[in-house]
Amino acid sequence: MTDYPKPPFKKQAQPVPGSQKKMDPYPDCGEQSYKGSGRLEGKIALITGADSGIGRAVAIAFAREGADIAIAYLNEHEDAQETARWVEQAGRQSLLLPGDIAEKAQCQALVDKTVERFGHIDILVNNAAFQMTHKNFEDIPDDEWVMTFNVNITAIFRICQAALKHMKPGGSIINTSSVNSDMPKPTLLPYATTKGAIANFTAGLAQMLGPKNIRVNCVAPGPIWTPLIVSTMTDEDVENFGGETPLGRPGQPVEVAPIYVLLASDEASYITGQRYGITGGKPIL
Ligand code: NAD
Ligand code: MG
Repeated sequence: MTDYPKPPFKKQAQPVPGSQKKMDPYPDCGEQSYKGSGRLEGKIALITGADSGIGRAVAIAFAREGADIAIAYLNEHEDAQETARWVEQAGRQSLLLPGDIAEKAQCQALVDKTVERFGHIDILVNNAAFQMTHKNFEDIPDDEWVMTFNVNITAIFRICQAALKHMKPGGSIINTSSVNSDMPKPTLLPYATTKGAIANFTAGLAQMLGPKNIRVNCVAPGPIWTPLIVSTMTDEDVENFGGETPLGRPGQPVEVAPIYVLLASDEASYITGQRYGITGGKPIL
């Protein structure tokens, strides 16, 4: 708990979607620390936003637990290749799937290419997201509002619909929501609204898919040190990032990965429709 970096952090603004390689301190995705124990042996996982941050930590953990990984991402090829390298070093197969999930065709293509390569899908992690900081409500561009919804929630609907045709009983869907789903940071209004939608979608879909024995859960991270933060938040927010939590620091992606492993594994056979906070002590409702 005391080994990870604390604020203040250096100014380090980056253009969206951000490069993990350029971050200081470098986010810890469990590269040197995560130990697997065969909990996902032989499973196939499709993870969006798996190039960096939480998605990379989940990809590394899943691979060390025995899963092959389809790594979906926007355009951060270097970061994605680094994730693929760790997956392969764990003795598992990886598949790189770049492209914009705001497009309906890309949502379908992610699933088609994963199934073409691996035959089916056991675990779907909907983790990609866009956010942008706006101080004033009047300044939020209409097209950015629509794009945020397309990437953060409509894509989840589309990828789930496409993937379910290839998922068997025992399958697991995990969506990344946020503490913003019930405690919206006003400067992230469009994003926070989609994160509330993800929590609601998860609870509803879990009820629809229960009879098919497919589980659906979501994770609500608090402040986690990733490229999303340095590419979309103000210098001041970055400098103090995570300082307001009871633990006084942001989480590292590796600290979020274990809940995804549990929710993906057969040990979670009676867990569905839930939302898990990984927040450094900030309560979720
Ligand atoms: P990240 O930047 O490492 O990951 C987000 C990924 O989403 C990017 O790597 C990018 O490839 C992908 N992406 C963005 N737009 C896309 C598009 N149009 N098409 C395809 N892919 C796209 O940051 P992260 O913090 O690890 O984010 C992962 C998830 O965690 C997100 O859902 C985010 O909302 C959530 N989350 C993060 C925090 C935090 O503090 N970092 C807190 C709560 C929730
Ligand atoms: Mg990235």
